[in-house]
Amino acid sequence: MLTPAPEESLAYFTSLLGLSVVAESDGAWYLRGYGDYEAYSSKLVAADHPGIGHVALRTSSAEALERRVTWLKSAGIDGAWAEPEGGKGPSYEFRDPDGHLIRIYYETSKWQSPSDARPAMKSNHSRYVGNGANVRRLEHVNLMASDVRACREFWESGLGLRTLEVIRRPDGSEDGAWLSSTVQGHEVIYVRDHVPGGRGRLHHLAFWVDSREDVLRAADLMNDAFVPIEAGPSRHIPIQGFYLYTREPGGNRIEVCSGGYLAFDPDDDPIVWTQAEYAAKPGWGARLPSTFR
Ligand code: FE
Repeated sequence: MLTPAPEESLAYFTSLLGLSVVAESDGAWYLRGYGDYEAYSSKLVAADHPGIGHVALRTSSAEALERRVTWLKSAGIDGAWAEPEGGKGPSYEFRDPDGHLIRIYYETSKWQSPSDARPAMKSNHSRYVGNGANVRRLEHVNLMASDVRACREFWESGLGLRTLEVIRRPDGSEDGAWLSSTVQGHEVIYVRDHVPGGRGRLHHLAFWVDSREDVLRAADLMNDAFVPIEAGPSRHIPIQGFYLYTREPGGNRIEVCSGGYLAFDPDDDPIVWTQAEYAAKPGWGARLPSTFR
């Protein structure tokens, strides 16, 4: 994640969200939630503008990584291997149809707590210290795209994610698509970029907390820290996630989320919302503000 206000952003991610810094170098900080199993889940980088540098996803095996690279090459997608970084990789780097930089990798390093900070249960990755909003892990990434459907089909056919929900217009184009590689309701999301010429932009990054009450607690914390709350706490229509959206000091939209459903049916058809069905807002809670789009 890029930020033009690195010190202030770092304070937001650590003191307010509750991530910890595991390494730093030259205006970059590697961050993790207490439940992230890898050494880090996010990297904050000083830049002259906010946004996303790249998104990296781990494959299920070394062979799966080779198969994905073979598919990308056969589909004529430009790509190149990137050197291991922060204990992850090598990774294969390419762009999605909207120009977002994506990396896939298999080799990684798993978090080992220092001996004086081991959790009591060896099944936990870190001690539960309850800092700030106490986010457990990185949950999902939401990217904007001028052609949501092309991006969704790219991930489906090229990278093996399945679509759980879409919002579709009569012309077949899509306003949003929610994809996952696991039973988790969403891992990669695309929403329509309404800015003409907008390309490769981030909509938001989301971090998980264990309960809806924890989302409300995050709202209390953010409010008293004078962090602008853009939306929520409320419940989304797609995946039914319970959300809070704030803007971190660098300008990126960050979500604290919980709830939502898990997708256990392996051959379920995607839920398709028409624009009218979505606009009718079948769920409770306040409507999203216009700034959200
Ligand atoms: Fe979200």
